[in-house]
Amino acid sequence: MSTKIWTLWSGGRTNEEERLLLKRPSAELPAPFGDREKREIKTIIAAFLERDDALGLAAPQIGLSRKIIIFKTRGLHERSPVRSRSDYEVLINPRITQKRGPEEIMSEGCLSCPDISVEVIRSTEIKVRALDEEGNKINRRYTGFQARIVQHEIDHLEGKLILDHADGAIYIPKEKRVILMALLQRELPIEEREIVPA
Ligand SMILES: [Zn+2]
Repeated sequence: MSTKIWTLWSGGRTNEEERLLLKRPSAELPAPFGDREKREIKTIIAAFLERDDALGLAAPQIGLSRKIIIFKTRGLHERSPVRSRSDYEVLINPRITQKRGPEEIMSEGCLSCPDISVEVIRSTEIKVRALDEEGNKINRRYTGFQARIVQHEIDHLEGKLILDHADGAIYIPKEKRVILMALLQRELPIEEREIVPA
């Protein structure tokens, strides 16, 4: 059975408990890692590897309010499944230390905001300080679409979802429009946004 992904809504209803956890900043992992931290890191890796529809996953999305993210580093555009250890990266307590390059607007989806996509402005180059799976300090630089994915996942650790950006249009599939519009009312002042049925 696959790991449950926590979502703001499902089946036409908002998920109050899941929403509260998704919207709150998660806790840092103390280093060096003990058994609990090692287990948590393993749990999110396993949850990520179960899925072939995710470019990345943050711990709060599986109900774990901890600063851990995982994301694909290869095959970002062809939806190919993760095959080896070099196809993904795990960052613990990641912090963006620098944002550079031009900003770019692009629509993003999120497993925790099912069925919609939202246009979000992101930096095209970032530098990140974090710990790796063993607890070693690392510095990374990401560009382009990869930088977007990492920013999306780091946002999750601060309780920030794509709807909290909504820099442009929000795309909602026609057949789900009625139900989702009602749910979105509580997430953002909808009259200020441009809604595009996709
Ligand atoms: Zn997400």
